[in-house]
Amino acid sequence: MNVYFHTFGCKANQYDTERVRQAFDASGATVVDDPALADLAVINSCTVTSESEVKLRRLVRHVAKSGHAQTIVMGCAAALDSGAIAALPSVRAVVANAEPETVLAAAGISYPLAATRRGGQGVRSRGLLKIQDGCDEHCTFCATTLARGNNRSRAVAELIEEALGLAQHHPEIVLTGVHIGTYGQDVQRGSGDPGRKPGDRESLGALLESLITAIPHVRFRLGSVEATEVDDTLARLLIEAPRNLAAHLHAPLQSGSDRVLKRMGRHWYTAESYRARIEWLAERLPVLGLGADVIAGFPGETDADHHASLTLLNALPFTYLHVFPFSVRPDAPAARLPGQLRPELIRERARELRELGETKATAYRASRVGQAADGVVTGRQQGRLELMTEDYLSVYLDTDQWDGRPRFEVTVN
Ligand code: SF4
Repeated sequence: MNVYFHTFGCKANQYDTERVRQAFDASGATVVDDPALADLAVINSCTVTSESEVKLRRLVRHVAKSGHAQTIVMGCAAALDSGAIAALPSVRAVVANAEPETVLAAAGISYPLAATRRGGQGVRSRGLLKIQDGCDEHCTFCATTLARGNNRSRAVAELIEEALGLAQHHPEIVLTGVHIGTYGQDVQRGSGDPGRKPGDRESLGALLESLITAIPHVRFRLGSVEATEVDDTLARLLIEAPRNLAAHLHAPLQSGSDRVLKRMGRHWYTAESYRARIEWLAERLPVLGLGADVIAGFPGETDADHHASLTLLNALPFTYLHVFPFSVRPDAPAARLPGQLRPELIRERARELRELGETKATAYRASRVGQAADGVVTGRQQGRLELMTEDYLSVYLDTDQWDGRPRFEVTVN
């Protein structure tokens, strides 16, 4: 059977697709990169923006037109589907989770999954390690909690074993999940996997310490993590162990206005506590790749709120921004909040935020040109070698300058 895979959304989704791909591979299927050649398409869906669902529907229709493949849709949008995805042409099944067993069964394949390996081989030189799934928060713009359920942390021993396997092929391992800063909190409450004791000292910082001790030659990188969840252990590792933990934080801000943060249900930080944590860290790190997600035009956002975001974003040393114009997710409570803004106003605010992000990214890169960086090879593009630095910059070299090492010192160009 020829199978085509496509992933929408975040690194947690990329990780899930990779596990499913490995399960199909182990069952004897052939992975193809053209849907026209496929007997089956497996599409991992995302529900973060309305745009991601538009793209999903477009791809499903494209697959149906381009050949004879049937489609299985899995992931977050699939979990919330009330029939619209199932009704798309050639959809064989809508799988409300990302378990390889379920996707294989939906494809009519039964295969002993013990034979398959977990891991993120497909993501070039950066291995992905999903440390938890789900989230206990209920941000009013987010339907992810509904789609993925509560925080469930994986056991430390299992993660070390998987990371050891990834380290054989990947000089860098990225810790991913839905809300990784809450890693271990379910165990502390006694609601984690059986086999672990309530009260076990499990946290993201403690997990990273264990991973670094077990695999000291790999560079770990944190996926998206809340600024106020960077505890003292994580901060110490970022400052004292730059070879082991990349100097990079992607810390969702969403808004620089406390009033908007409250309406978003993001109760665990304020603009001030976010600023304090980032400033404290930035002062202690010689380089820091710093990114944030920001939502433009949340319902009820005033001009003053928008300017509070611009002011905070301008004040902090961001090196890039991911800006999301607010879009209504029917399953998320923000869809029913009063004060929905005009689409033109949302677009205008998003444009201003993006411009600021681009200005800051350009300035940061210019400040790094000519400096040394710890580069990890992530791929080749048009005969050139692509490397990623500790502070999340892409650097390109001619392949004839490469001696084959997967990680080496580069000069930012
Ligand atoms: S913290 Fe908020 S935005 Fe992030 S996954 Fe949880 S509910 Fe969604």
